[in-house]
Amino acid sequence: MSSEDNNDPILDTAKRIVKLGPICDSCLGRQFAMLSTGLTNIERGRAVKTVLAMQASSQNDRELLEDLAPSSESARLSLGRKGEEDERCWVCLGEMRRESLDAWAERAEAALEGLEYSTFLVGTRMSGLLAENEELLLSDGGSGSAEPFKSELNREVGKLIAARTGRKTDFEHPDVVVHLLLDRSQAELQVASLYIRGRYRKLVRGIPQTRWPCRVCHGRGCERCGGTGRMYQESVDELIRPATIEAAEAEDTVFHGAGREDIDARMLGTGRPFVVEAVRPRVRTIDLSRLEVEINRRAEGKVEVHELSLADQKTVERLKEGPFEKTYSALVELKSEIPEEKLKSVLKELVGSIDQQTPTRVSHRRADKVRVRKVYSADLAEVSGRLARITIRGDSGLYIKELISGDGGRTRPSLASALGVDAVVVELDVIDVGG
Ligand SMILES: [Zn+2]
Ligand SMILES: [Zn+2]
Repeated sequence: MSSEDNNDPILDTAKRIVKLGPICDSCLGRQFAMLSTGLTNIERGRAVKTVLAMQASSQNDRELLEDLAPSSESARLSLGRKGEEDERCWVCLGEMRRESLDAWAERAEAALEGLEYSTFLVGTRMSGLLAENEELLLSDGGSGSAEPFKSELNREVGKLIAARTGRKTDFEHPDVVVHLLLDRSQAELQVASLYIRGRYRKLVRGIPQTRWPCRVCHGRGCERCGGTGRMYQESVDELIRPATIEAAEAEDTVFHGAGREDIDARMLGTGRPFVVEAVRPRVRTIDLSRLEVEINRRAEGKVEVHELSLADQKTVERLKEGPFEKTYSALVELKSEIPEEKLKSVLKELVGSIDQQTPTRVSHRRADKVRVRKVYSADLAEVSGRLARITIRGDSGLYIKELISGDGGRTRPSLASALGVDAVVVELDVIDVGG
């Protein structure tokens, strides 16, 4: 008797699949997952087997009955089969059995123990063997309506975890992804970072914004850095870090700033927007006002944070993209005394577009090219002898030191060229970022 005699492409495909070897209800049902909704793959697989078994009986197709079950007797009783027979499934090798799914949920729950999270997602890393089996089934079975093995395992284990933990799955931004490592029978967690935004003020000169590994040893420790592995012993990043790590029970932090000031510049006024990312946090509900107090206590006199609030990955992107206007206060030393009125009128000439070729002092790490930046205002705050305090508002990326000195003609115009007198910045503070 031909197996292609019922003119039903679904049943033909199902028959072909069943003839490949013993297959569990889940694995069979999964081959037709895209054809119907509202059923689990087990239910779908069971239904397909039932129809095939009835057809085989009516056509007295002993061969097919044998394929459907070890004996034609149990094939007739195939409704509700489970357990031992599913273990014989050549496709999943028993992974889709309820006992096996339960074991995965149990491993996941154990791994999640002690972690604060409200949403999760399950991901599967296939073993080589199971991936091969699935490929064989797809190529030799030929169903075009199959769902990937991974999707079913993710979903089924996800349901069990949800039932055990009372937490919800979230496909977009889960707090934690539970990876099922099939080749190691292990559940591994990928914990989403916790993002906290705020503004910082840097009250002292001489500390960089972020950790700065030693240029000589790249962090291993050498003579140049006195074994610390760092160019500077402190940074805004590192002053904010310990209290954040403690509050979130995190493994590390990553600091994201809306631009950065020079190491020798203070960051005053309303402060600079930043996001601190707590990496692999075990705690997500944080008392932010307490954290603020704690950070400021430990970094006292050096760094101050305020306006802490919860943020997300998108905040970091906006922070990085955002062209923030900045206002600076610069103490400028002039080669010779200039009358106050002349200084004021020359500063007005600086307002507008400035051509800045990459400054000599950063040319070793930035491409050498000319950038156009805007100066929105340049005002004299006070002058005393050869020292003038100037307030400048400009585009992010405007180099203030070069705007004053001219950098050997690389920045045009500049205060020095407009005055015809050498001028250098001796102190620089950022007093506003954004506005
Ligand atoms: Zn199976
Ligand atoms: Zn070093």
